Amino acid sequence: MAAPVTVRDVQTILTQPAGSRLIIVKVLTSEPGLYGLGCATFTQRFRAVYTAIQEHLRPFLIGRDVDRIEEIWQMSMVNGYWRNGPVLNNAISGIDQALWDIKGKRANMPLYQLFGGKCREGAAVYGHAGGSCPEEVVDSLRRFQAQGYRFIRVQMGGYGGIASGMVKPDGAPDGAYFDRGQYRRDHLRLFAHLRREVGDEVELLHDVHERLQPIEAVGFAKDVEQFRLFFLEDVLAPEDIEWFRNIRQVCTTPQAMGELFNHPREWTPLVEGRLIDFLRMHVSQMGGITPARHVAAFGNLYGIRTAWHGPGDTSPVGHAANLHLDLWAPNFGIQEWCGFPEHVYEIFPGLPRVRNGYMYPNDLPGLGIDVNEELAARYPVEDEIIGWTQTRLPDGTPVRP
Ligand code: MG
Repeated sequence: MAAPVTVRDVQTILTQPAGSRLIIVKVLTSEPGLYGLGCATFTQRFRAVYTAIQEHLRPFLIGRDVDRIEEIWQMSMVNGYWRNGPVLNNAISGIDQALWDIKGKRANMPLYQLFGGKCREGAAVYGHAGGSCPEEVVDSLRRFQAQGYRFIRVQMGGYGGIASGMVKPDGAPDGAYFDRGQYRRDHLRLFAHLRREVGDEVELLHDVHERLQPIEAVGFAKDVEQFRLFFLEDVLAPEDIEWFRNIRQVCTTPQAMGELFNHPREWTPLVEGRLIDFLRMHVSQMGGITPARHVAAFGNLYGIRTAWHGPGDTSPVGHAANLHLDLWAPNFGIQEWCGFPEHVYEIFPGLPRVRNGYMYPNDLPGLGIDVNEELAARYPVEDEIIGWTQTRLPDGTPVRP
């Protein structure tokens, strides 16, 4: 047998070309010119992930056989003893995706081929329509329809809506304030307006972003049933998942859940109980392609579909990973897509393109995406105290963003 190809070095690239700080891992191998890329993007705590990769995982990985992806994933998860946190998961994802990329390059096949081949030619995507009033949301939605999108997420005033007329106590601190009651009322009016203006055929999605109390979430899911959403996302927080059973008892609004989960087994009660409809895994947040494949297969046995998280703080490399999973998974549901400006395509050659509401792969081996490190270095990361996550209720109480 030929000597194994081994990990020669691990490099971590930080870049901020379009708002979010992105973390890309590059695994170099003992074979000259052979390397893989992976997404480790945890944009809010990027320096912690960078250190976890360079100071802890890099020395652990150098010299290991690049073919042993599953074993490396399992061992990386337990090697630090303490596990299942977003910093370590993202760091491991960067390595895991890069090893899959290397395996695809060695096989000279696009990754979806190694998973078992394509179930579809392109992945249907949804875009994000928004505005500060129902009329603006309609305009935004119609711009997506004009580009061929048939699935569109609609939000008014961002997460939590617009809090006008809110009465704060004297001395209330700064923060991102919202009002749960107003959010619910405004969005029910928005959905009614949208169905009147744009009809029944467009598939509407909405993200509650865990902003409601559990009993309010049950009521909201029931209230929106009449508007036939494609899915309602994160109506409950991970802490409150027992309440999905109450939602199932009162309505058939499809439920998407899971971008904040840390471990694949957090899905176990929801999948076994048929309490949700879409797996909203943030692939890097849960440790990469390896756990994503486990979760997809688990959901498939129960008739539950995938809807991998695909916002702007998933790197282009992470979007490529999403796409390969989408093309393969028999239980693919929908793919979130944020869109990137053209200069990001120059930094990341091979970044997937969307045409007429479908995302398409190229036929390059592995993930089919590269990074131009010189161009990426022109967009250095900037430190920032994040404001939008300093969320408060009208009386100033800190709550989930
Ligand atoms: Mg979400």
